[in-house]
Amino acid sequence: YAAKTGAGGWARFVPAMDASAVEAARLAAGLRDGLGRGDFRVVYQPIVTLPEQRIAGVEALVRWHDPERGLIPPDRFIPVAERSGLIVPLGRWVLREACGQAAAWSAVYGGAAPSRVCVNVSPRQLDEPDFVDDVAAALADSGLPAEYLVVEVTETAVFGGGRAVEALHALRALGVRVALDDFGTGHSSLGLLLTCPVDILKVDKSFVDGVTEPGDRAVIVEFLCQVARGLELDTVAEGVEDAAQAARLHELGYRKGQGYLFARPLPAAELADLLLAALAPAAPQALSAAGAA
Ligand code: C2E
Ligand code: MG
Ligand code: MG
Ligand code: MG
Repeated sequence: YAAKTGAGGWARFVPAMDASAVEAARLAAGLRDGLGRGDFRVVYQPIVTLPEQRIAGVEALVRWHDPERGLIPPDRFIPVAERSGLIVPLGRWVLREACGQAAAWSAVYGGAAPSRVCVNVSPRQLDEPDFVDDVAAALADSGLPAEYLVVEVTETAVFGGGRAVEALHALRALGVRVALDDFGTGHSSLGLLLTCPVDILKVDKSFVDGVTEPGDRAVIVEFLCQVARGLELDTVAEGVEDAAQAARLHELGYRKGQGYLFARPLPAAELADLLLAALAPAAPQALSAAGAA
């Protein structure tokens, strides 16, 4: 190519594309090996009520510890897992892990256990003919009541048509809840809220970031909350990092928040410590000391 196109942009562009394709292929191979070896873990980030900061739920977030490359963030490997189809077995594993963990917490901590476990589901999984059966099996095998499970889907996943909306209806018939994740960043058609079964709106961090300064983002955060409340949807503000944001979100009517202010995503054992602290009657603010991992 270099000889044919001379010193044009192409000569430099082609090798760069090859490099990222090679890297993606390497990641996909690594993912396959990692799945076989069990290099994945699930961490849990609390979702808390505003303003009490009681742990109402947790979001399950997958972590990949590659023996050679170390910790690889989901933003790097989830897209590769989706393109290669490996998200299907990986997602199935996360779902079973999260249901098992939630059932265990419920058995040990009773009413102090998170009453919802939220699991991210990619478009590729939603489009699998067996997806609803997989969810039903994960619930049956773990003993977790369907009402404890929330599937988080993005606007893009349900906008594409296919089997997605049908699958969500079937999940809801089982008693599973549906959350629209990263709301505001995708197609953001409000018509989606009419056609797609939704119980919870999670407003994306990029909007939450601007909630304390007067401006367009704050206007949208407020408007989305009014729409959600009018439709009787539960509301979660994502990526809450400071107390001023939490106070303002509560003022605007947000029911729940999730973010580093309350707690980072934690290994199951560390989340259990928080639940234990919440059980102790003397504990003043269970979450104020949280924040490792
Ligand atoms: P998400 O579903 O929107 O998850 C929330 C992300 O925001 C998490 O990133 C979480 O660690 C991060 N976060 C939470 N609070 C704060 C905050 O206060 N500040 C900042 N800066 N970040 C905060 P994480 O764990 O890196 O995951 C990134 C994305 O990867 C997730 O975004 C989700 O789309 C995807 N993902 C993670 N686990 C899974 C999974 O098991 N399956 C699928 N399909 N996707 C997953
Ligand atoms: Mg999510
Ligand atoms: Mg999100
Ligand atoms: Mg997000």
